[in-house]
Amino acid sequence: MKAFDRKHIWHPYTSITDPLPAYPVARAEGVRLQLEDGRELIDGMSSWWCAIHGYNHPVLNDAARSQLEQMAHVMFGGLTHEPAIRLAERLIEITPESLRYIFFSDSGSVSVEIALKMAVQYWHNLGKPAKRCMLTVRGGYHGDTFGAMSVCDPVTGMHSLFGGIVQEQLFAPRPETPFGEALRDGDTDELQVLFEENHAQIAAVILEPVVQGAGGMWFYSADYLRTVARLCKEYDVLLILDEIATGFGRAGKLFAAEYADIEADILCLGKALTGGYLSLAATLANDRIRDGISANEGILMHGPTFMGNPLACSIASASVDLLLESNWQGRVSRIETRLQTELGKYRDHPGVSDVRVLGAIGVVELDSDIDVAEVQKRFVEAGVWIRPFGKLVYLMPPYVIGEDDLTRLTAAVELALERD
Ligand SMILES: *Cc1c(COP(=O)(O)O)cnc(C)c1O
Repeated sequence: MKAFDRKHIWHPYTSITDPLPAYPVARAEGVRLQLEDGRELIDGMSSWWCAIHGYNHPVLNDAARSQLEQMAHVMFGGLTHEPAIRLAERLIEITPESLRYIFFSDSGSVSVEIALKMAVQYWHNLGKPAKRCMLTVRGGYHGDTFGAMSVCDPVTGMHSLFGGIVQEQLFAPRPETPFGEALRDGDTDELQVLFEENHAQIAAVILEPVVQGAGGMWFYSADYLRTVARLCKEYDVLLILDEIATGFGRAGKLFAAEYADIEADILCLGKALTGGYLSLAATLANDRIRDGISANEGILMHGPTFMGNPLACSIASASVDLLLESNWQGRVSRIETRLQTELGKYRDHPGVSDVRVLGAIGVVELDSDIDVAEVQKRFVEAGVWIRPFGKLVYLMPPYVIGEDDLTRLTAAVELALERD
């Protein structure tokens, strides 16, 4: 079986002919992944930001089962259903009041495509078709489809490989001011110039608020976001916030934009939305977007096959309820404190260039690239699931993780620092 996988199945960001090893998992429960050979690993990744409640959760399992007995899926064209309506109500309720219209799609990348499309259609409909370019910052990540790729960091997003196919967008430097600090002099200068010179062509700014995730796990100042929001108003540019990674408490607030107290015109949600059960995403918009797109009888031209999938929507509602009924803030802040103390110890370790923690995210940045296959093997042998990338070892465990398990994760990080 493993040989078949290795030969025939693509895994993310690795070669098909000489892939990084993949470990077969038989089941998962709580914060533990059980490998087929019987070994148990403590999960430090929440399966890429998603499994916030841990695996095999009885409440989410029940939601899946009871929805399954009604219907797994029906098309959303001309039909609607309670699971989508309930989830929409819930998401509109917990996001800023101005976001009142929702588009369901099947993955984060697609929700970003929809956000970009909304922005372009908005200006087109209002008779300003020249406003069709996006402005963003370096170091971002918004997904792997072509529109989303165009606003990812040009280097890690491999724009040179796809030159001419990927839309050219405007990039300001990565925000330099770290989270928690007042904006450093000059940090938004280039951004300001880009606004000044190009606002007639810019449809929207798109950003991951506070936490740049897959583009380098960087936490930047909320002041930067406030400046962006101000410039958007000043130059009549829409603001798209991508909270696909940060949404649902991961960075310490239910949504990371709360740190800056700003509101987006368009908001993307995904990842933890279903607690890691199924792929589902949502794009929310305000009155301005609704009215703009609807002007001159305009309609939003999008409609994924699995739009509003009832099974995913039911689980998502259950997951959001479970989160809000839990003491998630207490949990996330306990994780944050422990990560700060226990990862903080690596700060002076040779080869470590930075340690940073925000909410339930802990990052140890090394000064050179990590040998993923080798370090991964050490982690698995130590009974933990931690997946480094580039120079980064990071932890983002399920919120339900116990103190001892978390300490096992932070202790294991040292295995990535041993050089041979
Ligand atoms: C993961 C991610 C995406 C893409 O979501 P997919 O579900 O993988 O398509 C977009 N934006 C951010 C910030 C992400 O972390």
